Amino acid sequence: MKELVIATTNKGKLREIKDLLKDFSLKITSLADYPEAPEVIEDGKTFSQNAAKKALTIARYTGKLTLGEDSGLQVKTLGNKPGIYSARFSGENATDKKNNLKVLRSLKGVPLEDRQAAYRCYAALADHNGIVDIVNGRCSGLIGFHAKGKNGFGYDPYFIIPRYNKTFGELPPEIKAQISHRARALEKVKNILFEYMK
Ligand code: IMP
Repeated sequence: MKELVIATTNKGKLREIKDLLKDFSLKITSLADYPEAPEVIEDGKTFSQNAAKKALTIARYTGKLTLGEDSGLQVKTLGNKPGIYSARFSGENATDKKNNLKVLRSLKGVPLEDRQAAYRCYAALADHNGIVDIVNGRCSGLIGFHAKGKNGFGYDPYFIIPRYNKTFGELPPEIKAQISHRARALEKVKNILFEYMK
């Protein structure tokens, strides 16, 4: 069975990506399976550059087809921050909790209608020859005032999907798997994999 390495240590991301690719006959591994893999410094200026760097570095190291994924939250009234800094918005020892608190503090006094946000996901596929393709997906929402629900990860308890009037923390994973930024990007990855594996 062909192997696809997911160049991440983020368990939330990995769980979702594995689920989104479950219909492919692929052995899916991650950086947890390659503990000696080089650390990828995310010094790109864009999601796309970071995704490409993750994919290329790990594809070169493993010699295997690799998916690099870079994603994050953009809040309109914050000039699209935290953006590529989503994982480390609150600094060196960032946690999801501290990151969420920083977003909430930055939005103090902002009414719900001005709390528009979007999740972005860039996914790069690379093999021993270099980049195969880079695709992306987007999901719009609003940043709520209080954490709701325990599903998902990261900013999900605050990320309201207006159509459902519920956060990704509250919505079942099956719904997130249909409409999220990652689901939309991975839908495109599936098409590429389909061609690649012919
Ligand atoms: P990366 O590992 O550098 O791509 O950072 C991704 C960060 O963006 C995560 O640590 C979260 O803070 C945020 N993020 C990305 N996708 C999601 C999601 O689906 N739900 C919640 N937070 C997300």
